[in-house]
Amino acid sequence: MKPVIALVGRPNVGKSTLFNRITKSRDAIVADFAGLTRDRHYGDARLGPREFIVIDTGGFEPDATTGVVQRMAQQTKQAVAEADAVIFVTDVRAGLSAQDHEIARFLRTANKRVLLAVNKAEGMLDAPQIAEFHELGIGEPHPVSAAHGQGIRSLLEAALDEF
Ligand code: GDP
Ligand code: MG
Repeated sequence: MKPVIALVGRPNVGKSTLFNRITKSRDAIVADFAGLTRDRHYGDARLGPREFIVIDTGGFEPDATTGVVQRMAQQTKQAVAEADAVIFVTDVRAGLSAQDHEIARFLRTANKRVLLAVNKAEGMLDAPQIAEFHELGIGEPHPVSAAHGQGIRSLLEAALDEF
């Protein structure tokens, strides 16, 4: 069974950009994976010889019964439940937000391996702003640039470490 890595974070931090970067836009054939729903976006990925599945979240439509915020929280929780490891994506240019703290609080209770990605860090991989993300209590921040393909390999190596 391939390990499953979920990308979670508030809107606009670059989850889908990171997803596309990691999967090179190859869609997973989800029918092969019992227990994975079609509600989220799955992709096939590899790091060297290691194959894994990535889940993007947040590409949802609000429906009549649940609002956008509720739908997002629900999707995040389901993706985390399905995952072996979670990459929590944040945005160094926007900085920390209340929503980041809220997601961090949830992830600390989730009993999953969680990696903290600080995205949009092109040109600022060593900037002091990166260290501020320690405050989330998720561990060492990994500066990455999904758009420019920087820091991704070491992030994925850390995420796949135990698998
Ligand atoms: P999502 O809502 O978390 O899925 O975020 P998206 O992947 O849709 O990206 C939101 C915006 O951030 C888009 O305009 C992206 O082009 C931009 N973005 C994503 N990754 C990076 C990055 O590494 N650097 C910069 N500067 N912008 C990025
Ligand atoms: Mg998205």
